[in-house]
Amino acid sequence: MIGLTILGATGSIGVSTLDVVSRHPDRFKVIALTANRNVELLVRQCVRFEPQVAVMADEASAARLRVCLSDLSCATEVLHGPQGLVDAAQLSEADAVMAAIVGAAGLMPSLAAARAGKRVLLANKEALVMSGRLFMNAVHEAGAVLLPIDSEHNAVFQCMPAAPPDIDPSVPNRVERAVEQTLTRAGVRRIVLTGSGGPFRDTPLSELLEVTPDQACAHPNWSMGRKISVDSATMMNKGLEVIEACWLFDAPVDKVEVVVHRQSVVHSMVEYEDGSVLAQLGNPDMRTPIAHALAWPNRIESGVPGLDLVKVGRLDFEPVDLQRFPCLRLGFAAARSGSAASAVLNAANEVAVQSFLDGRIRFTAIAGLVEEVLGHAELNEPTTLDDVLVLDAEGRRLAQASIERLVASGF
Ligand code: NAD
Ligand code: MG
Repeated sequence: MIGLTILGATGSIGVSTLDVVSRHPDRFKVIALTANRNVELLVRQCVRFEPQVAVMADEASAARLRVCLSDLSCATEVLHGPQGLVDAAQLSEADAVMAAIVGAAGLMPSLAAARAGKRVLLANKEALVMSGRLFMNAVHEAGAVLLPIDSEHNAVFQCMPAAPPDIDPSVPNRVERAVEQTLTRAGVRRIVLTGSGGPFRDTPLSELLEVTPDQACAHPNWSMGRKISVDSATMMNKGLEVIEACWLFDAPVDKVEVVVHRQSVVHSMVEYEDGSVLAQLGNPDMRTPIAHALAWPNRIESGVPGLDLVKVGRLDFEPVDLQRFPCLRLGFAAARSGSAASAVLNAANEVAVQSFLDGRIRFTAIAGLVEEVLGHAELNEPTTLDDVLVLDAEGRRLAQASIERLVASGF
């Protein structure tokens, strides 16, 4: 039996994870579930999966959850707040932790799971984008196993050699050399991330000014939470994924490319020196990467129907139009610039996306805001977690100030 904690159990990834888990009651035991404020859904999940611990973001929601669970004679212990999340991520009964909280709120608990040496199933890409090397160091120092849930990175992972080749100990221990050595030794020429282009890939540019949050969240191929849906519409999601790929696979940014693939059937590719290109294909359903990471190195049933390639008919690939998707250009620039830019980019984007979802700014303002913040922030490379939190706070403060100016100017 594998003990499993799910951070962000009530979200899109959390619900898909519990769907896979429910197909294998003999394999997985749910240890802890966490949610932000959705008490109703967490109650149902607790009754169904009987975790030892449940965590709500705030005290009032936790109190409501406690009352509901005691009425239903459910013995789950209820915690709350950031410390509750960290405690849940480290419970000794859990072997694996699904990190599926959205945004920077997931950083501390995801990192706690890594530090506790868990098998970390990482959906919360923002945590890795923010803290990059610190996160990877925590994984290595604690002997944690990091498995990507993001469909592209899970696909790349599946297309990589079975065992990562060792770094030659005779090579001087310089990070850049080690990075090049690892990919070169594996014979990898480049990593190709695919992206559907989102709901606005064909929308005339002049119409983007007026698009609504609901339109931005209506993704043509994937059903996801609202923040990542907007990120997919701007393609900032792909920018974050470029940074994520660099950290996960020790890849220099110049070895990571992005191609638009509107069917979302090829989830990503790895090209080798001999010209071989390995791709992972499947229906666009997150239960596939979730089941892959839950069972790795074995395979289990996920509930995803088989891929009918005849029905799909064709697979199209196009270059990304960076005029339409300036956020991807910003993502690449941040990846080249370093960890400070990545943390600030992520923070500014989170604030801008929330403002768009709240109806305060236009869709088209998101990229400009993030670029402006990157231009004004002091980008000191972080060496500690506190440095990362300072960069995050600075990115948020600058983004908020820009938004207030924008709103005041009537745009
Ligand atoms: P979602 O909005 O559907 O769910 C987010 C979860 O996090 C919910 O359980 C919510 O209660 C919890 N949460 C939100 N804010 C919180 C806070 N401040 N404190 C504690 N908990 C909080 O999001 P999602 O689509 O499931 O995405 C989750 C993560 O997975 C994101 O980082 C996203 O980028 C990544 N991801 C999602 C998909 C997808 O298909 N949905 C694919 C790839 C990667
Ligand atoms: Mg993805």
